[in-house]
Amino acid sequence: GNATLSYINPVRLLDKRLEERVVVLVIGGGGREHALCSGMKRSSSCDSVFCAPGNAGISSSGDATCIPDLDVFDSEVVVSFCRKWGVGLVVVGPEAPLVAGLSNDLVKAGIPTFSPSSEAAALEGSKNFMKNLCDKYRIPTAKYKTFTEPSAAKKYVQEQGAPIVVKADRLAAGKGVIVAMTLEEAYKAVDSMLIENVFGSAGCRVVIEEFLEGEEASFFALVDGENAIPLESAQDHKRVGDGDTEPNTGGMGAYSPAPILTKELQSVVMESIILPTVKGMSVEGCKFVSVLYAGLMIEKKSGLPKLIEYNVRFGGSRVSACRGELTGVTLNWSPGSAMVVVMASKGYPGSYEKVTMIGNLEEAKQVTPSVKIFHAGTALDSGGNFIATGGRVLGVTAKGKDLEEARDRAYQALE
Ligand code: AMP
Repeated sequence: GNATLSYINPVRLLDKRLEERVVVLVIGGGGREHALCSGMKRSSSCDSVFCAPGNAGISSSGDATCIPDLDVFDSEVVVSFCRKWGVGLVVVGPEAPLVAGLSNDLVKAGIPTFSPSSEAAALEGSKNFMKNLCDKYRIPTAKYKTFTEPSAAKKYVQEQGAPIVVKADRLAAGKGVIVAMTLEEAYKAVDSMLIENVFGSAGCRVVIEEFLEGEEASFFALVDGENAIPLESAQDHKRVGDGDTEPNTGGMGAYSPAPILTKELQSVVMESIILPTVKGMSVEGCKFVSVLYAGLMIEKKSGLPKLIEYNVRFGGSRVSACRGELTGVTLNWSPGSAMVVVMASKGYPGSYEKVTMIGNLEEAKQVTPSVKIFHAGTALDSGGNFIATGGRVLGVTAKGKDLEEARDRAYQALE
Protein backbone atom coordinates (compact mmCIF):
# COMPACT_ATOMS: atom_id res chain seq x y z
CA GLY A 1 0.00 0.00 0.00
CA ASN A 2 2.55 2.59 0.98
CA ALA A 3 5.38 1.30 -1.18
CA THR A 4 7.15 3.73 -3.41
CA LEU A 5 9.13 2.63 -6.40
CA SER A 6 12.59 3.91 -6.96
CA TYR A 7 14.44 3.24 -10.16
CA ILE A 8 17.99 2.15 -9.71
CA ASN A 9 18.81 1.94 -13.40
CA PRO A 10 20.23 5.39 -14.32
CA VAL A 11 18.96 5.07 -17.90
CA ARG A 12 15.51 4.74 -16.48
CA LEU A 13 15.97 7.83 -14.36
CA LEU A 14 16.33 9.73 -17.63
CA ASP A 15 13.24 8.15 -19.06
CA LYS A 16 10.87 11.06 -19.40
CA ARG A 17 7.84 8.81 -19.38
CA LEU A 18 8.44 7.99 -15.76
CA GLU A 19 8.10 11.63 -14.90
CA GLU A 20 4.63 11.74 -16.36
CA ARG A 21 1.89 11.98 -13.81
CA VAL A 22 -0.91 9.64 -14.70
CA VAL A 23 -4.64 9.85 -14.32
CA VAL A 24 -5.82 6.63 -12.67
CA LEU A 25 -9.17 4.86 -12.88
CA VAL A 26 -9.94 2.34 -10.13
CA ILE A 27 -12.84 -0.02 -10.84
CA GLY A 28 -14.90 -1.16 -7.84
CA GLY A 29 -16.55 0.28 -4.78
CA GLY A 30 -15.50 -1.53 -1.61
CA GLY A 31 -12.90 -1.19 1.11
CA ARG A 32 -10.15 -2.54 -1.15
CA GLU A 33 -10.88 0.13 -3.74
CA HIS A 34 -10.90 2.81 -1.05
CA ALA A 35 -7.44 1.69 0.06
CA LEU A 36 -6.27 1.63 -3.56
CA CYS A 37 -7.57 5.12 -4.30
CA SER A 38 -5.98 6.45 -1.14
CA GLY A 39 -2.61 4.85 -2.03
CA MET A 40 -2.72 6.13 -5.61
CA LYS A 41 -3.67 9.60 -4.51
CA ARG A 42 -0.58 9.79 -2.26
CA SER A 43 1.76 8.78 -5.08
CA SER A 44 3.85 11.55 -6.58
CA SER A 45 3.38 10.04 -10.03
CA CYS A 46 -0.40 10.20 -9.85
CA ASP A 47 -2.22 13.18 -11.28
CA SER A 48 -5.75 12.37 -10.18
CA VAL A 49 -7.91 9.36 -9.37
CA PHE A 50 -11.34 8.31 -10.62
CA CYS A 51 -13.24 5.45 -9.04
CA ALA A 52 -16.21 3.68 -10.66
CA PRO A 53 -18.64 3.17 -9.09
CA GLY A 54 -16.83 4.14 -5.86
CA ASN A 55 -18.66 4.68 -2.58
CA ALA A 56 -19.64 7.41 -0.15
CA GLY A 57 -16.43 7.14 1.89
CA ILE A 58 -14.20 7.36 -1.16
CA SER A 59 -15.83 10.51 -2.46
CA SER A 60 -16.09 12.29 0.87
CA SER A 61 -12.48 11.53 1.78
CA GLY A 62 -11.42 13.26 -1.42
CA ASP A 63 -9.30 10.24 -2.38
CA ALA A 64 -11.01 9.97 -5.77
CA THR A 65 -13.75 11.40 -7.92
CA CYS A 66 -16.45 8.74 -7.96
CA ILE A 67 -18.36 7.92 -11.14
CA PRO A 68 -21.35 5.93 -9.85
CA ASP A 69 -23.06 5.62 -13.24
CA LEU A 70 -20.18 4.28 -15.33
CA ASP A 71 -21.17 0.81 -16.57
CA VAL A 72 -18.00 -1.17 -15.80
CA PHE A 73 -19.43 -4.23 -17.56
CA ASP A 74 -19.53 -2.37 -20.85
CA SER A 75 -15.90 -2.19 -22.04
CA GLU A 76 -16.69 0.33 -24.76
CA VAL A 77 -18.11 2.73 -22.19
CA VAL A 78 -15.02 2.34 -19.99
CA VAL A 79 -12.63 2.78 -22.96
CA SER A 80 -14.35 5.99 -24.07
CA PHE A 81 -14.29 7.32 -20.51
CA CYS A 82 -10.52 6.64 -20.38
CA ARG A 83 -9.96 8.41 -23.72
CA LYS A 84 -12.07 11.37 -22.73
CA TRP A 85 -10.28 11.94 -19.43
CA GLY A 86 -6.78 10.83 -20.47
CA VAL A 87 -6.68 7.87 -18.08
CA GLY A 88 -3.16 6.36 -18.14
CA LEU A 89 -3.69 3.47 -15.73
CA VAL A 90 -6.71 1.32 -14.91
CA VAL A 91 -6.81 -0.95 -11.87
CA VAL A 92 -9.68 -3.41 -11.61
CA GLY A 93 -10.61 -4.46 -8.06
CA PRO A 94 -13.49 -6.96 -8.28
CA GLU A 95 -13.50 -10.23 -10.14
CA ALA A 96 -16.71 -9.96 -12.17
CA PRO A 97 -15.56 -7.26 -14.66
CA LEU A 98 -12.30 -9.20 -15.19
CA VAL A 99 -14.14 -12.37 -16.04
CA ALA A 100 -16.28 -10.32 -18.43
CA GLY A 101 -13.02 -9.41 -20.22
CA LEU A 102 -12.66 -5.75 -19.21
CA SER A 103 -8.89 -6.05 -18.80
CA ASN A 104 -8.50 -7.70 -22.25
CA ASP A 105 -10.54 -4.96 -23.91
CA LEU A 106 -8.65 -2.13 -22.21
CA VAL A 107 -5.28 -3.60 -23.19
CA LYS A 108 -6.55 -4.03 -26.77
CA ALA A 109 -7.49 -0.36 -26.76
CA GLY A 110 -3.93 0.51 -25.68
CA ILE A 111 -4.83 1.60 -22.15
CA PRO A 112 -2.31 0.42 -19.50
CA THR A 113 -4.23 -1.91 -17.23
CA PHE A 114 -2.95 -3.42 -14.04
CA SER A 115 -5.18 -6.47 -13.90
CA PRO A 116 -4.97 -9.93 -15.38
CA SER A 117 -6.55 -10.94 -18.66
CA SER A 118 -9.58 -13.20 -18.34
CA GLU A 119 -7.34 -16.15 -19.35
CA ALA A 120 -4.73 -15.36 -16.66
CA ALA A 121 -7.52 -14.83 -14.12
CA ALA A 122 -8.13 -18.59 -14.35
CA LEU A 123 -5.38 -18.93 -11.73
CA GLU A 124 -8.04 -17.81 -9.28
CA GLY A 125 -11.12 -18.69 -11.27
CA SER A 126 -10.44 -22.41 -11.66
CA LYS A 127 -8.90 -24.56 -8.94
CA ASN A 128 -8.36 -27.28 -11.53
CA PHE A 129 -6.35 -24.92 -13.77
CA MET A 130 -4.25 -23.79 -10.79
CA LYS A 131 -3.58 -27.35 -9.60
CA ASN A 132 -2.65 -28.54 -13.12
CA LEU A 133 -0.18 -25.68 -13.40
CA CYS A 134 1.30 -26.68 -10.03
CA ASP A 135 1.73 -30.26 -11.30
CA LYS A 136 3.35 -29.24 -14.54
CA TYR A 137 5.77 -26.72 -13.00
CA ARG A 138 6.41 -28.65 -9.76
CA ILE A 139 4.94 -26.02 -7.45
CA PRO A 140 4.38 -27.40 -3.93
CA THR A 141 0.67 -27.76 -3.17
CA ALA A 142 -1.68 -30.28 -1.54
CA LYS A 143 -1.99 -33.61 -3.36
CA TYR A 144 -5.28 -33.71 -5.32
CA LYS A 145 -7.55 -35.24 -7.91
CA THR A 146 -10.34 -33.73 -9.97
CA PHE A 147 -13.79 -35.34 -10.45
CA THR A 148 -17.09 -34.83 -12.23
CA GLU A 149 -18.54 -38.24 -11.24
CA PRO A 150 -19.88 -38.42 -7.66
CA SER A 151 -19.20 -42.15 -7.22
CA ALA A 152 -15.58 -41.85 -8.33
CA ALA A 153 -15.14 -38.80 -6.10
CA LYS A 154 -16.51 -40.64 -3.06
CA LYS A 155 -14.35 -43.66 -3.75
CA TYR A 156 -11.29 -41.38 -3.73
CA VAL A 157 -12.45 -39.78 -0.47
CA GLN A 158 -12.78 -43.24 1.07
CA GLU A 159 -9.30 -44.27 -0.08
CA GLN A 160 -7.69 -41.08 1.21
CA GLY A 161 -9.59 -40.83 4.53
CA ALA A 162 -10.53 -37.75 6.54
CA PRO A 163 -9.81 -34.94 7.18
CA ILE A 164 -9.96 -34.05 3.50
CA VAL A 165 -10.84 -30.94 1.51
CA VAL A 166 -13.55 -30.73 -1.18
CA LYS A 167 -13.53 -27.70 -3.47
CA ALA A 168 -15.84 -26.49 -6.21
CA ASP A 169 -13.65 -25.97 -9.28
CA ARG A 170 -14.89 -22.47 -10.01
CA LEU A 171 -15.56 -19.49 -7.78
CA ALA A 172 -18.61 -19.90 -5.57
CA ALA A 173 -18.77 -16.56 -3.73
CA GLY A 174 -16.13 -17.73 -1.27
CA LYS A 175 -18.24 -20.68 -0.11
CA GLY A 176 -17.01 -23.44 -2.41
CA VAL A 177 -14.41 -24.94 -0.06
CA ILE A 178 -15.42 -27.58 2.48
CA VAL A 179 -12.78 -28.71 4.94
CA ALA A 180 -14.33 -32.06 5.90
CA MET A 181 -13.23 -33.47 9.23
CA THR A 182 -15.12 -36.75 8.67
CA LEU A 183 -15.81 -39.01 5.69
CA GLU A 184 -19.53 -38.27 6.00
CA GLU A 185 -18.96 -34.54 5.73
CA ALA A 186 -16.84 -35.10 2.64
CA TYR A 187 -19.47 -37.34 0.99
CA LYS A 188 -22.09 -34.71 1.74
CA ALA A 189 -19.90 -32.00 0.18
CA VAL A 190 -19.42 -34.13 -2.96
CA ASP A 191 -23.17 -34.74 -3.24
CA SER A 192 -24.05 -31.10 -2.67
CA MET A 193 -21.70 -30.00 -5.46
CA LEU A 194 -21.99 -32.83 -8.02
CA ILE A 195 -25.61 -33.99 -7.49
CA GLU A 196 -27.55 -31.16 -5.86
CA ASN A 197 -25.60 -28.48 -7.77
CA VAL A 198 -25.74 -26.04 -4.87
CA PHE A 199 -23.06 -23.91 -6.54
CA GLY A 200 -24.54 -24.31 -10.01
CA SER A 201 -22.00 -24.76 -12.78
CA ALA A 202 -19.17 -23.55 -10.46
CA GLY A 203 -19.38 -26.89 -8.66
CA CYS A 204 -19.99 -29.31 -11.53
CA ARG A 205 -16.33 -30.28 -11.25
CA VAL A 206 -14.67 -30.75 -7.85
CA VAL A 207 -11.08 -30.81 -6.71
CA ILE A 208 -10.51 -33.11 -3.76
CA GLU A 209 -7.29 -32.48 -1.93
CA GLU A 210 -5.14 -33.49 0.97
CA PHE A 211 -5.77 -31.65 4.25
CA LEU A 212 -2.73 -29.57 5.14
CA GLU A 213 -2.00 -28.83 8.76
CA GLY A 214 -0.16 -25.69 9.77
CA GLU A 215 -0.40 -21.92 9.93
CA GLU A 216 -1.82 -19.90 7.04
CA ALA A 217 -0.27 -16.75 5.63
CA SER A 218 -0.63 -14.64 2.52
CA PHE A 219 2.20 -13.51 0.30
CA PHE A 220 2.04 -10.90 -2.45
CA ALA A 221 4.19 -10.26 -5.51
CA LEU A 222 4.04 -7.62 -8.22
CA VAL A 223 4.17 -9.31 -11.63
CA ASP A 224 4.69 -7.84 -15.11
CA GLY A 225 4.27 -11.02 -17.17
CA GLU A 226 7.90 -12.17 -16.88
CA ASN A 227 9.33 -10.68 -13.69
CA ALA A 228 8.11 -10.71 -10.13
CA ILE A 229 8.96 -8.49 -7.18
CA PRO A 230 8.04 -9.67 -3.70
CA LEU A 231 5.77 -7.36 -1.73
CA GLU A 232 5.03 -7.99 1.93
CA SER A 233 3.23 -10.80 3.67
CA ALA A 234 0.01 -10.66 5.69
CA GLN A 235 -2.20 -12.79 7.88
CA ASP A 236 -5.94 -12.38 7.96
CA HIS A 237 -8.62 -13.51 10.34
CA LYS A 238 -11.73 -14.95 8.83
CA ARG A 239 -13.91 -15.88 11.78
CA VAL A 240 -16.33 -13.35 13.16
CA GLY A 241 -15.67 -13.93 16.88
CA ASP A 242 -12.65 -12.93 18.94
CA GLY A 243 -10.09 -15.68 19.47
CA ASP A 244 -10.79 -17.29 16.05
CA THR A 245 -14.30 -18.45 16.98
CA GLU A 246 -17.76 -18.50 15.33
CA PRO A 247 -18.55 -18.61 11.59
CA ASN A 248 -16.26 -17.71 8.69
CA THR A 249 -16.62 -14.34 6.98
CA GLY A 250 -15.05 -12.50 4.08
CA GLY A 251 -12.38 -11.40 6.58
CA MET A 252 -12.58 -9.49 9.84
CA GLY A 253 -9.10 -8.07 9.99
CA ALA A 254 -5.52 -8.51 8.93
CA TYR A 255 -2.01 -7.47 9.71
CA SER A 256 1.19 -7.12 7.81
CA PRO A 257 3.90 -8.32 7.82
CA ALA A 258 3.16 -11.89 8.96
CA PRO A 259 5.75 -12.90 11.57
CA ILE A 260 5.65 -16.53 10.43
CA LEU A 261 7.01 -15.65 6.99
CA THR A 262 10.64 -15.05 7.83
CA LYS A 263 13.03 -13.65 5.22
CA GLU A 264 14.23 -17.21 4.52
CA LEU A 265 10.71 -18.48 3.99
CA GLN A 266 9.93 -15.52 1.73
CA SER A 267 12.83 -16.56 -0.51
CA VAL A 268 11.50 -20.11 -0.55
CA VAL A 269 8.04 -18.81 -1.56
CA MET A 270 9.53 -16.71 -4.38
CA GLU A 271 11.74 -19.52 -5.70
CA SER A 272 9.41 -22.48 -5.32
CA ILE A 273 5.98 -20.91 -5.85
CA ILE A 274 5.82 -17.38 -7.33
CA LEU A 275 8.57 -17.52 -9.99
CA PRO A 276 7.59 -20.97 -11.36
CA THR A 277 4.00 -19.72 -11.59
CA VAL A 278 4.98 -16.58 -13.52
CA LYS A 279 7.18 -18.64 -15.84
CA GLY A 280 4.52 -21.31 -16.27
CA MET A 281 1.83 -18.80 -17.14
CA SER A 282 4.12 -17.19 -19.71
CA VAL A 283 4.99 -20.57 -21.26
CA GLU A 284 1.29 -21.49 -21.37
CA GLY A 285 0.60 -18.32 -23.35
CA CYS A 286 -1.37 -16.47 -20.66
CA LYS A 287 1.14 -14.04 -19.21
CA PHE A 288 0.15 -12.84 -15.79
CA VAL A 289 0.17 -9.09 -15.06
CA SER A 290 -1.04 -7.86 -11.69
CA VAL A 291 -0.55 -8.70 -8.07
CA LEU A 292 -0.24 -12.40 -7.43
CA TYR A 293 -1.69 -13.07 -4.00
CA ALA A 294 -0.76 -16.52 -2.76
CA GLY A 295 -2.68 -18.18 0.06
CA LEU A 296 -0.12 -20.41 1.77
CA MET A 297 -0.04 -23.10 4.39
CA ILE A 298 3.23 -23.24 6.30
CA GLU A 299 3.09 -26.94 6.95
CA LYS A 300 3.55 -28.04 10.51
CA LYS A 301 5.46 -31.20 9.68
CA SER A 302 8.00 -29.73 7.23
CA GLY A 303 7.93 -26.03 8.13
CA LEU A 304 7.72 -25.34 4.39
CA PRO A 305 5.14 -23.36 2.44
CA LYS A 306 2.57 -25.02 0.19
CA LEU A 307 0.22 -23.17 -2.12
CA ILE A 308 -3.46 -23.33 -1.12
CA GLU A 309 -4.89 -20.86 -3.59
CA TYR A 310 -4.18 -17.85 -5.72
CA ASN A 311 -6.03 -14.57 -5.83
CA VAL A 312 -5.20 -12.49 -8.84
CA ARG A 313 -6.37 -9.12 -7.70
CA PHE A 314 -5.91 -6.46 -5.10
CA GLY A 315 -3.86 -3.48 -5.97
CA GLY A 316 -0.84 -1.44 -5.13
CA SER A 317 0.24 -1.11 -8.68
CA ARG A 318 2.19 0.90 -11.11
CA VAL A 319 2.46 1.49 -14.78
CA SER A 320 5.84 -0.32 -14.96
CA ALA A 321 4.12 -3.62 -14.33
CA CYS A 322 1.69 -3.10 -17.22
CA ARG A 323 4.57 -2.22 -19.52
CA GLY A 324 6.61 -5.31 -18.63
CA GLU A 325 9.29 -3.09 -17.10
CA LEU A 326 9.74 -4.43 -13.60
CA THR A 327 13.42 -5.33 -13.92
CA GLY A 328 15.61 -2.90 -12.01
CA VAL A 329 12.74 -1.66 -9.86
CA THR A 330 13.22 -1.68 -6.11
CA LEU A 331 10.57 -1.03 -3.53
CA ASN A 332 11.02 0.98 -0.37
CA TRP A 333 8.94 -0.13 2.56
CA SER A 334 8.16 1.91 5.60
CA PRO A 335 9.27 0.02 8.70
CA GLY A 336 6.85 -1.32 11.30
CA SER A 337 3.51 -3.01 10.96
CA ALA A 338 -0.02 -2.23 9.92
CA MET A 339 -3.28 -3.72 11.11
CA VAL A 340 -6.83 -3.42 9.89
CA VAL A 341 -9.81 -4.33 12.06
CA VAL A 342 -13.15 -4.63 10.30
CA MET A 343 -16.28 -3.08 11.83
CA ALA A 344 -19.30 -5.07 10.75
CA SER A 345 -23.04 -4.70 11.19
CA LYS A 346 -24.26 -6.56 14.28
CA GLY A 347 -25.32 -10.07 13.20
CA TYR A 348 -22.89 -10.39 10.27
CA PRO A 349 -22.19 -12.89 8.66
CA GLY A 350 -25.80 -13.90 9.44
CA SER A 351 -28.69 -11.49 8.92
CA TYR A 352 -28.14 -7.97 10.14
CA GLU A 353 -29.98 -4.69 10.33
CA LYS A 354 -29.38 -2.47 7.32
CA VAL A 355 -29.22 1.31 7.19
CA THR A 356 -27.88 2.06 10.65
CA MET A 357 -26.24 5.37 11.50
CA ILE A 358 -22.45 5.55 11.90
CA GLY A 359 -21.33 8.08 14.47
CA ASN A 360 -18.00 9.55 15.57
CA LEU A 361 -16.06 8.87 12.37
CA GLU A 362 -14.14 12.13 12.61
CA GLU A 363 -13.38 11.55 16.30
CA ALA A 364 -12.04 8.09 15.56
CA LYS A 365 -9.59 9.51 13.03
CA GLN A 366 -8.34 12.02 15.59
CA VAL A 367 -7.40 9.31 18.10
CA THR A 368 -3.99 8.82 16.61
CA PRO A 369 -2.44 10.26 13.48
CA SER A 370 -1.65 6.84 12.03
CA VAL A 371 -5.31 5.82 11.74
CA LYS A 372 -7.01 5.61 8.36
CA ILE A 373 -10.59 4.44 7.97
CA PHE A 374 -11.50 2.73 4.71
CA HIS A 375 -15.15 2.50 3.74
CA ALA A 376 -16.69 -0.70 2.41
CA GLY A 377 -20.48 -0.78 2.95
CA THR A 378 -21.42 2.85 3.57
CA ALA A 379 -23.62 5.50 2.00
CA LEU A 380 -24.66 9.05 2.82
CA ASP A 381 -28.25 9.75 3.87
CA SER A 382 -30.15 12.85 2.79
CA GLY A 383 -28.81 14.75 5.80
CA GLY A 384 -25.19 14.00 4.81
CA ASN A 385 -24.65 11.43 7.59
CA PHE A 386 -22.84 8.16 7.00
CA ILE A 387 -25.01 5.06 7.23
CA ALA A 388 -24.01 1.40 7.13
CA THR A 389 -25.39 -0.44 4.11
CA GLY A 390 -23.48 -3.72 4.16
CA GLY A 391 -22.22 -6.52 6.41
CA ARG A 392 -18.66 -5.33 6.55
CA VAL A 393 -18.77 -1.59 6.90
CA LEU A 394 -15.43 -0.01 7.81
CA GLY A 395 -11.77 -1.07 7.79
CA VAL A 396 -10.14 0.72 10.70
CA THR A 397 -6.44 0.69 9.89
CA ALA A 398 -3.44 1.79 11.88
CA LYS A 399 0.31 1.67 11.54
CA GLY A 400 2.77 1.29 14.39
CA LYS A 401 6.40 0.52 15.12
CA ASP A 402 5.38 -3.09 15.71
CA LEU A 403 2.29 -5.27 15.56
CA GLU A 404 1.28 -4.46 19.15
CA GLU A 405 1.39 -0.73 18.61
CA ALA A 406 -0.56 -1.00 15.33
CA ARG A 407 -3.18 -3.16 17.06
CA ASP A 408 -3.51 -0.86 20.07
CA ARG A 409 -4.01 2.16 17.84
CA ALA A 410 -6.59 0.42 15.66
CA TYR A 411 -8.58 -0.70 18.71
CA GLN A 412 -8.32 2.75 20.28
CA ALA A 413 -9.91 4.21 17.16
CA LEU A 414 -12.55 1.48 17.22
CA GLU A 415 -13.52 2.37 20.76
P1 AMP B 1 -9.37 -21.49 -0.53
O1 AMP B 1 -10.60 -20.79 -1.01
O2 AMP B 1 -8.84 -22.52 -1.44
O3 AMP B 1 -8.33 -20.54 -0.02
O4 AMP B 1 -9.81 -22.21 0.82
C1 AMP B 1 -10.41 -21.50 1.89
C2 AMP B 1 -9.83 -21.94 3.18
O5 AMP B 1 -9.99 -23.35 3.34
C3 AMP B 1 -8.33 -21.70 3.30
O6 AMP B 1 -8.03 -20.40 3.70
C4 AMP B 1 -7.95 -22.74 4.33
O7 AMP B 1 -8.25 -22.28 5.63
C5 AMP B 1 -8.87 -23.90 4.02
N1 AMP B 1 -8.18 -24.85 3.13
C6 AMP B 1 -8.21 -24.87 1.79
N2 AMP B 1 -7.46 -25.88 1.30
C7 AMP B 1 -6.96 -26.54 2.37
C8 AMP B 1 -6.12 -27.68 2.53
N3 AMP B 1 -5.67 -28.38 1.50
N4 AMP B 1 -5.82 -28.06 3.78
C9 AMP B 1 -6.30 -27.37 4.85
N5 AMP B 1 -7.09 -26.31 4.78
C10 AMP B 1 -7.42 -25.87 3.55
